Amino acid sequence: MAKHQFQTEADQILHLMTHSLYSNKEIFIRELVSNASDALDKLNMLVLTDEKYKDVTFSPRIDIVANKEAKTLTIKDSGIGMNEEDLMNNLGTIAKSGTKAFLENMTGDQKKDSQLIGQFGVGFYACFMVADKVEVTTKKAGEDQAYIWTSTGAGEFEIENATQDGHGTTIVMHLKDDESEFLEEYRVESIIKKYSNHIPFPIFMDKEKYIPAVTDDEGKETEPSKTEIENKQINKANALWTIAKKDIKDEEYKDFYSSFAHSSEEPLTWMHNKAEGAIEYTTLFYIPSKAPMDLYRVDYQTGIKLYINRVFITDDEKELMPTYLRFLRGVIDSKDLPLNVSREILQSNAVMAKIKNASVKKVLSELAKMSKKDKENYDKFYGEFGNVLKEGLYNDFANREKILELLQFNTLNSSEKVMIEDFVKNVDEEKKEIYYITGKTSVEMLKASPSLERFKAKGIDVLILNEEVDGIIFPMVTEYKEYKLVHISDAKFELDEQETKAQEETAKTYEGLVGQFKEALGESVKDVETTTDLVDSPVKLKEDKEDPAYMMAQMMKQMGQ
Ligand code: ADP
Ligand code: MG
Repeated sequence: MAKHQFQTEADQILHLMTHSLYSNKEIFIRELVSNASDALDKLNMLVLTDEKYKDVTFSPRIDIVANKEAKTLTIKDSGIGMNEEDLMNNLGTIAKSGTKAFLENMTGDQKKDSQLIGQFGVGFYACFMVADKVEVTTKKAGEDQAYIWTSTGAGEFEIENATQDGHGTTIVMHLKDDESEFLEEYRVESIIKKYSNHIPFPIFMDKEKYIPAVTDDEGKETEPSKTEIENKQINKANALWTIAKKDIKDEEYKDFYSSFAHSSEEPLTWMHNKAEGAIEYTTLFYIPSKAPMDLYRVDYQTGIKLYINRVFITDDEKELMPTYLRFLRGVIDSKDLPLNVSREILQSNAVMAKIKNASVKKVLSELAKMSKKDKENYDKFYGEFGNVLKEGLYNDFANREKILELLQFNTLNSSEKVMIEDFVKNVDEEKKEIYYITGKTSVEMLKASPSLERFKAKGIDVLILNEEVDGIIFPMVTEYKEYKLVHISDAKFELDEQETKAQEETAKTYEGLVGQFKEALGESVKDVETTTDLVDSPVKLKEDKEDPAYMMAQMMKQMGQ
């Protein structure tokens, strides 16, 4: 018998499961069924692509057995299974990126934390919310030795040799005394229907079947009614994305999202698209209603699963969709990719590139539609993901114009946010310049900037860009259609005769003063000059953006120094 300690982070998660989470416990079934489904997916692909597995039979099924006497709930699959090393690695540690972020985000507040758990997708350890002892018996496909992993969820686990016919994994949960609801057939069935109806494999369960009494012609009972046990498939087991849009109810889309994204929150919206033509593929993308907490981490988890003709290939490929659309959750499925596609092939595969390009265009156009037809939802979307979308301005040059058209701008002259298509309607048709000011401060502070006085006096509207990313991105965006984007400090206005004269006079009048300023400020400024830009304020600071020292300072700032 070999005893092992849980890795620190796994232990922390387990502690949470057993001690602080009491709401929404039912999701442990979703998590274990999802693991069973993943294990079937993995085996499916290997059997189809790897010589080593050619003798393994793939007969996918998941079985759920509730034993009221023993107070155990069992979930069994005929998937890939695990060997000793897999057990050590997968059920003793947490390799998942974002675990740290998750733990750091825990607040101690029951309700908030259980939502976080949903977002995070807690996985296997969720079974310790309801069980005080768990046994995992498993045999890896193509190998001979089976193992049993046992734990009470406190500090350590054991692994021993075991015997088992065939490959796959059986998880037996000894339920805590007050969790017997999960032994009730109707309760388990309704949880499966809610979260796992559309996993692509059948889930079976013993169900009591009522057989009505048999009566003769005169209505006399010849045989009393009785119940029989029947082993039945309880989920639909269809890959939702393969069904025609018109045959899918909103509820079904939402349920699929719940199992797919491990989320108890409803999605904001979804886009289901079937492309036919030279390349056939289907995409089903969801926009979550809340940003996941790892959205801005480099090691964020992707939310797109790639299937090839319904066979799951990967959900860990950051190239499937561009990073500025990393908030999407969903599926890409195509018949036109080779099944034994490797990562390298995927990245340079022309079919994949076409699917990706067309999918990006589709998502952007759907978003554009939403911004016009469903502003309320679009505002919600933009509040959560607008800043991520902006990243596309510098890493998706081909779609820059479309992305610009999805942004909502604060402007000098408007109290509401404005889209660029509307903004340009008021741009001087001769100059065709869109002016903007950046700064990481409030919109009000920026609007009050002395540098804008000239614009105010002339009634010219200016984009007010007050997010940190704006200062990084917008200097790289130089045009929109036939318009130029111009930072306010680069804006040049032609002076009429009177203004020129006034400027010359001002310069002359203050020659002495300018000299005094130069002397007083010395090395700390490059130059001092008079300006006609200002109307109310006496002075402003002017940045020389070509100055290498200025650019360096900006870069340091961006890197958080
Ligand atoms: P995740 O599914 O997000 O990887 P989990 O905690 O749910 O995280 O599961 C951890 C790992 O344990 C899985 O990645 C998988 O390798 C392994 N595992 C869990 N359940 C099974 C199963 N039924 N069959 C095979 N492997 C499993
Ligand atoms: Mg899992």
